[in-house]
Amino acid sequence: MDKPAHCRLWTHPEIVTNGISKNFELIETYAEESHWSRRLLKCRECGQLYFYEFNEEVDWESGDDPQCTTLIPVKTEEEIEALKGASPLQLASFLPRLQKDWPKGAKAPILRWIGKE
Ligand SMILES: [Zn+2]
Repeated sequence: MDKPAHCRLWTHPEIVTNGISKNFELIETYAEESHWSRRLLKCRECGQLYFYEFNEEVDWESGDDPQCTTLIPVKTEEEIEALKGASPLQLASFLPRLQKDWPKGAKAPILRWIGKE
């Protein structure tokens, strides 16, 4: 995937935490379940498209559900189709991607671009 170097998200990943709807426009919803969703988002500022996935593992014991949010910059229909067809596990092989992990028991999420170099 192309690096969205022009996008504010590239240098300020924290904007996903300060309100996704403020910074991104919802273009399409591909999956919508209580613990799993997939969407196509568009940056309100520069128009960059992002494939978005939210995943929550249900922790039946303590109710402290680990969460994971992934944003992958996309440009073409082909890229979007490839991501739609990928399993949550397979999404982890696409670079670069912005990942926000909230592991079980953590006080704050870990937010980072993977494959930024
Ligand atoms: Zn942008």
